[in-house]
Order: sequence, then C-alpha cells, then structure tokens
Amino acid sequence: MTLKDYYETMGISPEVYEYASKIEESLKERFTSLDVTTEYNQMKVLYVMQKNKLAEAHFSATTGYGYNDIGRETLEKVYADIFKTEDALVRPQITCGTHALNLALFSNLRPGDELLSPVGKPYDTLEEVIGIRPSKGSLREYGISYQQADLLPDGQFDFDGIRAAINEKTKLVIIQRSKGYDTRPTLSVERIGELIRFVKSIKPDVICMVDNCYGEFVEEREPSEVGADMVVGSLIKNPGGGLAPIGGYICGTKECIENAAYRLTSPGLGKEVGASLGINDRLFQGLFLAPCVVNSALKGAIFAANLYESLGFKVVPNGTESRHDIIQAVELKSPELLVAFCEGIQAAAPVDSYVRPEPWDMPGYDSKVIMAAGAFVSGSSIELSADGPLKDPYAVYFQGGLTYPHVKFGIMMSLQKIVEKGLISLPK
Ligand SMILES: *Cc1c(COP(=O)(O)O)cnc(C)c1O
Repeated sequence: MTLKDYYETMGISPEVYEYASKIEESLKERFTSLDVTTEYNQMKVLYVMQKNKLAEAHFSATTGYGYNDIGRETLEKVYADIFKTEDALVRPQITCGTHALNLALFSNLRPGDELLSPVGKPYDTLEEVIGIRPSKGSLREYGISYQQADLLPDGQFDFDGIRAAINEKTKLVIIQRSKGYDTRPTLSVERIGELIRFVKSIKPDVICMVDNCYGEFVEEREPSEVGADMVVGSLIKNPGGGLAPIGGYICGTKECIENAAYRLTSPGLGKEVGASLGINDRLFQGLFLAPCVVNSALKGAIFAANLYESLGFKVVPNGTESRHDIIQAVELKSPELLVAFCEGIQAAAPVDSYVRPEPWDMPGYDSKVIMAAGAFVSGSSIELSADGPLKDPYAVYFQGGLTYPHVKFGIMMSLQKIVEKGLISLPK
C-alpha cells in the first residue's frame, strides 16, 4: 500500500488528503525553527541526567515505606536541575495536576492568608480547590481568602488592579501559564517574569507559583528561571513524555518543597517516605523523551491552527503566532462541529478507536464536556486528545500527540468527520 492508500483505507478522502497536504507543505520553515528549541531542551535533559550519574540501579523498585529510594531521590535532583530550582517533589503519590496544585497551595498557605490570581480565573478544577465554587475541603473552608485581577480585554496585565489587590494578607500569587479552558492568550516565560518582578516590587516576600501544566519544554526557559518560587505540573502531560503512568511534580525553593513534602506525607516524614513501586524507569525515560514529544505536539497544533484558520475558524493561538504551551483552541461555534471534531480525534487513536465520544457531566466542570482520547495511559493529555465544554463559543481544546504523523492523521480525521456530516465543504 502507498501512504495515500493507507489514508484512504483508514477513512480519509482524497479531497481532505490533498487539502491537508497543501497546508502542511506551507509549514516546513516553521517546523525547522521548532527543532532548534527541541535540540536545546534535549541537550539540557541529557546533560542533567549525566551530571547526576543516572544509573540502572535507579530503576529498581521500592515498596512499603520506600526509605532510601535512590531512584526517587535522583529523579527529584534531575527535576530540580532541569527547572533550576533548589529542590523538587516528584511523586507517583501525587495523583494528577490538580492534586499537585492543591498540594502546593495547601502546604504553603495558612489560615488568614490570602491567595491572588493576577491573570484571571484559574483552571476549572481549581475553582473547587480555592472555593470559588463552594466545595468541601476548599482553601476557603480553611479560612484562606482569594482575590483575582482579570487580564485586560487586550490580554495585558492589569497592573493597577494587581497593585490594588495586594494587601498585608497576600501570601501567594498563582500564575497560570496555559490558557486552560479559556480563550485568553497563554503567557510566555518572558511575560511571566515581568509579572513576577512587578508583584515582588510591591511585596518582595510573596510566594510566586506557576501552574506550569502544558508549558514544559515549549521554550528554552521555564518560569522558575524568571523568578517563580514554585512551578507545578502533571506527569501525564509534557514532562512525563507519554511514558509516565501517573504523577505530579513541584519544583521550587527549599522551603516551599519542604512544606509540600510535609503535607504530602506527614509532618516529620516529608520526603523520606514514598515507595516508587518500580515506575522510576518510566518517569526517567519519559522525561528523556519529553522534549521530542512536545515537539510533535507543537507541530500538530500548528498544523491544526493553519488548517482550521484557512477554513475561516478562529483559532487560538493563530496560525503564525509564537507558542507558549501545547494547547490549540479552535472555536467551532456549534455543538455539532465540536462533537464531529472529537469523533475524528477518537477515530484516529491507537487505542479505543472504535468508540464514539459523548458529552457528559464531568466532576469538577460546570457544563457538559466532550472528550476524545484513545490513550495508552488513561486520561493522558500528552497523548493526542481533544476536549471542550458544550458552551459558547464551542471551542475545542486539543493537545498532545506522541508522534507528529499521528497528530496529523487525527486532525485530518477531525476534518473528515466534519466534511462527511455536511457541516462545512472544502474550498476547491
Ligand atoms: C490539566 C491542567 C490542570 C489540572 O490537571 P489534571 O491533571 O487534569 O488534574 C491544571 N491547570 C492547567 C492549566 C491544566 O492544563
């Protein structure tokens, strides 16, 4: 079979194939410039692994209390060196990104303190952590208040609003790098640095924490290199490289990490316990692959942005602007298009390709959400996945892709489903 035969056999019409090929052809130069960042990050990861004398012995399993788990200890040193922080907490016992963020917040805030988001509403699941939506066990229940300064309509920081929101109670500032389920712009590391400098010029001892989900290895620098006291993320996103089966990380100052460790396990125990159960090899290998996996995801996102933009849809980021996370939003403007897009992504998956995704009431979200994923690691969003809340503007947020050819096929399939349902027709 020729390549074209494969596509046709797997459901891509010659019309969609030709259209997609033309778009891809126009992106060659852009792709080459991404490879430069990837090479830099690959060398950074490799350098740090060699510097810490990563060895086969670090891959052996510990059980029970997990005392003296040299693999776990080395992994945390490697993370701290990559993010250029004093210390790190990288654990399979941190169940997901929300848990990692929750842990960083609860361990570094005390009753009477105030949390500030200077970049608008945080990611949906954090609304319950903070207590923006009333929730059992929220920061609010523990007497920790919250303030928010929204971005200005043009996406700039509201410096006056931020200054006014900072007071004697302000202890921690949370900055979300990625847009999440929103159509605001994602923040570059440069802009995060500018914001942190501003916040610290008003209150030098405030802890600046960055929700780094989906941002790792997209740029050559991480937010911890521009003043963030903590960066937090999920191992089933970028830094797990698709191989990590579970986990979250917090990298930051010695004090912040110590607080987090005493909260994750127990006061007195901290980082000393936590068996790694034999998954250290996957956490290391995934981290090693992560720069190239992020490269594939970015190429796929740029391909999709250009494809859908050429068809008249609003895409965020747009086809040409620079990238600061791996998420691509496409405003599809109708529930039918959103569902068809997700059906296409699902149909292109290596796992569960034969099932059809449906909108459902997902815990932690305030409207129905449709999700498409056929992943080797359940729920992993560094693997190609798409989701979107069923509310105006019916934006699909898609991300990931362990290999670029797979993302390309997924995006072609999404277009195929939309065309097949007669929702749009391709320009000749
Ligand atoms: C994914 C994500 C989270 C939450 O992570 P989960 O692993 O889904 O709990 C938080 N913030 C941002 C910006 C995210 O992208």
